[in-house]
Amino acid sequence: MNLKSLIREVPDFPKPGINFYDITTLLQDAAGLRAVIDDLGAAYKGKEIEIVVGIEARGFIFAPAVAYALHAGFVPVRKPKKLPAPTERVEYDLEYGTDILEIHKDAIRPGQKVLIVDDVLATGGTAKAVAHLVEKLGGNLVGLSFAIELDFLKGRDKLPGHKIDSLLHY
Ligand code: AMP
Repeated sequence: MNLKSLIREVPDFPKPGINFYDITTLLQDAAGLRAVIDDLGAAYKGKEIEIVVGIEARGFIFAPAVAYALHAGFVPVRKPKKLPAPTERVEYDLEYGTDILEIHKDAIRPGQKVLIVDDVLATGGTAKAVAHLVEKLGGNLVGLSFAIELDFLKGRDKLPGHKIDSLLHY
């Protein structure tokens, strides 16, 4: 199945110079959706993943489906002030300024086997921040799985020592 043919590339979105990889055209294709969910979890079948972590907002599309396929639980990482119970937070650098992400403190028990799933690995700033949250809670981060990796941004260099798999490379 040629998943790349289902990704729509939108030049100059959301601003000039950015080539945006639009996954909605993949999601709306029944066979494409099934293939991407199966493939994101494939390397972790039988690896006893207990928690799949997804990142607001596009990570919420893929991560719960992968969790279901792996018979694991799903944990959301959210933008600030969305989660109601006590949280752990991480502040990380963006191109301009900083951003904050939060996770419930009791979402992961120490030693639990965790997989992070997201749509795109770009600069790796977000993934690094989420990996930090998982490890702060004592989770055993087994790997990170992405639908798309933008190789030229070298995001994986921000995650040394971690297993990273991406289905499509640009
Ligand atoms: P980053 O922290 O730079 O790895 O990217 C964070 C998030 O931004 C990714 O998970 C994507 O949802 C989104 N993103 C960044 N660059 C692109 C792009 N060129 N096309 C689509 N989504 C992108």
